[in-house]
Amino acid sequence: MAYANTDEFYINGQWVTPKSNQTIAVIDPASEEEFARLTMGTEEDANNAVAAAKEAYKTWKHSTKAQRLELIDSILAVYERRNEEFAQAISREMGAPIKLAREQQAAVGLSHVKAFRKAFAAYDFESTLPNGDCLVHGPIGVCGLITPWNWPINQIVLKVIPALAAGCTMVMKPSELTPISAILYAEVLHEAGVPAGVFNLVHGEGPVVGAALSKHKDIAMMSFTGSTRGGTAVTRDAAETVKRVALELGGKSPNIIFADTDVAKAVTKGVRTCFNNTGQSCDSPTRMLVEESVYDLAVEAAKEAGAKVQVGVPSEDGRHIGPLASQMQFDKVQSMIEMAIEEGATLITGGLGKPEGFDKGYYVRPTIFANVNNQMRIAQEEVFGPVLTIIPFKDEADAIEIANDTLYGLSSYISSGDKEKIKRVALQLEAGMVNVNGGYIASGSPFGGYKQSGIGREGGAIGIEEFMETKVISQY
Ligand code: NAD
Repeated sequence: MAYANTDEFYINGQWVTPKSNQTIAVIDPASEEEFARLTMGTEEDANNAVAAAKEAYKTWKHSTKAQRLELIDSILAVYERRNEEFAQAISREMGAPIKLAREQQAAVGLSHVKAFRKAFAAYDFESTLPNGDCLVHGPIGVCGLITPWNWPINQIVLKVIPALAAGCTMVMKPSELTPISAILYAEVLHEAGVPAGVFNLVHGEGPVVGAALSKHKDIAMMSFTGSTRGGTAVTRDAAETVKRVALELGGKSPNIIFADTDVAKAVTKGVRTCFNNTGQSCDSPTRMLVEESVYDLAVEAAKEAGAKVQVGVPSEDGRHIGPLASQMQFDKVQSMIEMAIEEGATLITGGLGKPEGFDKGYYVRPTIFANVNNQMRIAQEEVFGPVLTIIPFKDEADAIEIANDTLYGLSSYISSGDKEKIKRVALQLEAGMVNVNGGYIASGSPFGGYKQSGIGREGGAIGIEEFMETKVISQY
């Protein structure tokens, strides 16, 4: 299937010809073959898009809540109609198995937006402070949005919809690995009636287009999701012009399993969650911390659950995992597995190389390491592939200490039969999210992390306020 608009950018309500004719291949990770060519942007393209957004801001910032709600409804309706196109595109560009692409990857383009709509409908731009002053929230201005490839539509809607609701205009630079879903989203926004210049799309390399946006004097805020390396580059580039910077970065999330739970069930769920999306999720529970008294039982259950995880091609229906998204990701995951073996971790399933029967494609073996201690690099560094580590802990205090002993602080998971213990532990975890007993935070709850996992939160009312400035007016 040929995809439209890969050689153009969406600026000021139109598909326009880029300033450069430099192109890159968009690769299907299941076949390693090129299936589209993408034109890459320059600083000039970025500047043109910012100029369009700046002009549109003059009008859009005055749009009413009712107009913005109507626009969100229209976006939802168009997206719903084109939902399957998103599932197919995401499956092709990043290798998500089609079931996952439909039920999770593309589906969040509706669920997150509905949650934003609900929060926005109830949102008050004005309130009175206890001291009598009037507190007002308004749009921050023109925003630069930079997104990654692993949950491409998830990241796009978590930025575009709240920015629109807040009254901001924007220039988005999606990942160069997953441009197709981003192009489709621009088409949806166009058809839904987003006014010209309010949303603009420019493809390109991070250090070129991303840096041009981050440095641009007319951009008030950068919202970035991706690696720590990319996030710190954006922060540095944004510093000169004193921009607000929101960062959603990596994680090494602990999954604490206490002995007072159904251990085999919690372990099985933990393995599956860790391997979901082929392990390419920032909030993946990659460090399974298990109470010493049930450690052996947990390792057995993990081995069994890991062996049951099937690897398969993205186009096939089923609950298997697909390939990793790129050759770079494949190489990185292989080197991390090699490193863990060298560090002395015990390989209980999976390992180096491709799974049997997969010579082509960036497929890896679902891999689990036991007897890991938290000081090992495999316990500290983000792998971003289907690789799980299992670490023993002595008691509650030890679990909390190990859980927090990381540079990251994005998500966390707890399984226990003791509700008081769950609350006690949850309150002490340095993580933005705590998922309990196999559950998961709902759409509309704030997503984001402590420490080097980022700055700020996405989703719901808090996610909309991220794109707003605060003003206070004295009594008069
Ligand atoms: P990446 O940092 O390589 O790329 C992300 C985006 O940043 C891309 O659009 C890229 O072009 C751009 N970029 C790269 N260098 C840049 C620079 N110097 N200036 C401006 N932009 C730049 O990350 P990735 O490999 O695409 O994504 C994987 C990472 O994203 C993982 O670390 C993962 O944990 C993280 N992630 C975090 C969340 C979250 O919400 N916390 C969600 C998804 C992914």
